[in-house]
Amino acid sequence: MNRELLRIWDNEHFWHPFTQMQVYSQEDNLIFERGEGVYLYDIEGRKYIDAISSLWCNVHGHNHPHINRAIIEQLSKVAHTTTLGSSNIPAIMLSKKLCEIAPEGLTKVFYSEDGSEAVEVAIKMAYQYWKHKGEDRRGFISFDGAYHGDTLGAVSVGGIGLFHEAFRDLIFKVHRLPSPYLFCKENKLEDSKCVDVLVELLRRVIEESQEGIVATIMEGGIQGAAGMLPYPKGLLKKVSDLCKEKNVLLIVDEVATGFGRTGSMFYCEQESVSPDFLCLGKGLSGGYLPLAATLTKDEVFEAFLGEFGQKRQFYHGHTYTGNNLGCAAALASLEVFEKENTLSYLPEKIEFLKELLKELSGLKYVWDIRRLGFMAGIELRQEGGEAFDYGMRVGFKVARACRDMGVFLRPLGDTMVIMLPLCADKEHIHETVHTLKLAIENLSI
Ligand code: PMP
Repeated sequence: MNRELLRIWDNEHFWHPFTQMQVYSQEDNLIFERGEGVYLYDIEGRKYIDAISSLWCNVHGHNHPHINRAIIEQLSKVAHTTTLGSSNIPAIMLSKKLCEIAPEGLTKVFYSEDGSEAVEVAIKMAYQYWKHKGEDRRGFISFDGAYHGDTLGAVSVGGIGLFHEAFRDLIFKVHRLPSPYLFCKENKLEDSKCVDVLVELLRRVIEESQEGIVATIMEGGIQGAAGMLPYPKGLLKKVSDLCKEKNVLLIVDEVATGFGRTGSMFYCEQESVSPDFLCLGKGLSGGYLPLAATLTKDEVFEAFLGEFGQKRQFYHGHTYTGNNLGCAAALASLEVFEKENTLSYLPEKIEFLKELLKELSGLKYVWDIRRLGFMAGIELRQEGGEAFDYGMRVGFKVARACRDMGVFLRPLGDTMVIMLPLCADKEHIHETVHTLKLAIENLSI
């Protein structure tokens, strides 16, 4: 394939997501051609550590023989069959498996293709659940800094001004609590005290709400897209307890945190929480194919049952819902978790990452280092603590320097994200952190 033509056609016809195309078209962009383990190779044959797991989804590495084989085997049977009123083998097997590994009580799986849709499904299901129960509830509670995706329901419960402001008039209103990490930091509250204050705020919103609260929605353990902002420990548990007490549904969005990223299969396990809805995506298929799922409980499912003519069914679904290839990839990825003991090797890697990150603290421009499990964010600011001007693209400059040294990163603003595939070994972790260190040390503003 002619590389120059590829670049021309990329600029002429391909509109990239979350990308300023005017700038993109003037830059020398990466075009990936293949991957192997934690490495990606571009069309020039250059090799990069995929230090963001191809946008937080790759789990066991690229081109994994077991996942490849499962996809090819399924492909030789059938690529896609509809699940609107019919079923397929991998989707059935995956539903059963997910219910086995998910927090107790989650017994039903509704598929979609991306994290945003998993959230959209949870929002609509929760809303309709109360209707079926004969209650007209309309309110949702979410957190500032939350990111749940880009479809309009997910944007409504999102709290990132930069992404969501433009659509303000199109979305429904929600009650918003402060971003937990920033709230604790600004108020100089230690974790347990901060949790109590936040939960009191939540209690007040629920008690004072006029329209009845459908659900509270939050990410699992850390606000990823806001810049890797971990919650104070115990927040999820106390929110879950309060929602139960007040008969409000709880939606936990583990699209980013699911499948090992925080050290356990799901973050909910770490706080013994079993939400009413668990949203999964990204790593569900090992990062191979677009697949997402919303898990829920018998109580919710049963509210949608009835005679055909009662029209209580959940009127939602996509062409590719429960896609055969995606489900086969997901089953294979879960098998790799078992075969390679992925989770049991993680604590050591997480500890190693944690120690290495300490070497970044104290560097000029390093303002804050945040981490939960294998997810880390390093925020860069001016020396006095002022944020850099957005237009300076400091995060991009540092990522670009890393790229020249063989590490592929995509920052969130000026927060450098490290989120390696779980199969990364100590050498990969070391190379990633040291490359980032060099790039920050050499940053000229
Ligand atoms: N929820 C969370 C917590 C996410 O981090 C993301 C994506 N970063 C989404 C939902 C949306 O997922 P997708 O991009 O697959 O629609």
